[in-house]
Amino acid sequence: MRQLVILSGKGGTGKTTVAGAFIRLSETRACADCDVDAPNLHLVNVAYPLRDDEPYYALPLADIDPALCVSCGECHSICRFDAIIPGGPYRVNDHSCEGCGVCALVCSVGAIHMKPHHAGNMTLYKKENAVFSTAELKMGSGTSGLLVSQVKKRMNAVVEGDIPFSVVDGSPGIGCPVIATLSGADVTLIVAEPSLSGISDLERIVKTARGFGTQVAVCVNKADINPARTRQIQEYCKREGLFFVGCIPYDPLAVVAVNRGVTIADIQCPSGNAAAEVYRRLLPVITQRSH
Ligand code: SF4
Ligand code: SF4
Repeated sequence: MRQLVILSGKGGTGKTTVAGAFIRLSETRACADCDVDAPNLHLVNVAYPLRDDEPYYALPLADIDPALCVSCGECHSICRFDAIIPGGPYRVNDHSCEGCGVCALVCSVGAIHMKPHHAGNMTLYKKENAVFSTAELKMGSGTSGLLVSQVKKRMNAVVEGDIPFSVVDGSPGIGCPVIATLSGADVTLIVAEPSLSGISDLERIVKTARGFGTQVAVCVNKADINPARTRQIQEYCKREGLFFVGCIPYDPLAVVAVNRGVTIADIQCPSGNAAAEVYRRLLPVITQRSH
């Protein structure tokens, strides 16, 4: 099964709108939302009657037993993340603790143990032989890359039969969850925004995606709100040898679709028609076996 990943250099470009449309147009039986900090693909990708939830445990965090702590300060001196709050007894700041475990090793009275850290929840939606994997990280939890890997693993573990490709919606930006999303991607579609910052965001994400050896294609969403910047993006793609797969217009009906819990490919609207054209152009690249 090949993997199509849909990314954007920043939030608010309409990446998930495009991902939802592609899932509908392709009728793929495997899809995932890897934007674990703010997942919202489930709002338009709803036709799954079965739901299976599982807690996500990240690296364990340090915990100090106040009854045993003798306030020697050893843990405070050794913690490189300033996660130990001094006092009598000492305490751990869960939001700063990285779970390295060094404090537990140096505490001579055994007052520190590592406790399980419930950092989020994972959900598998299923219908017949199709699966949609998603997850949500709790606010303040920092192991998003690990959770993204779990989301994809859970999708891959339950898909049945020969599926040409999966569709994976990634996080905006170039951080840890994006790196984890790009791992194993065959084709990356970047949804760009026609603005000055949108162009520099695009350049950063292209550089990141190329580092993973994935084929990179670009489309512009809301292209008509700034035709000059859209042209600049097209010229950039030409210069860089990137496959430019088309433009999607600004479309108030896209919001109508989301409010109805459907994708832009489910209703008759200009953005849905344009997304279908982008999909049609990209399909040969997604499905080719070697390049
Ligand atoms: S090393 Fe142990 S005893 Fe010393 S301050 Fe830390 S928790 Fe308390
Ligand atoms: S586990 Fe590591 S990061 Fe957390 S409090 Fe202990 S030394 Fe600091």
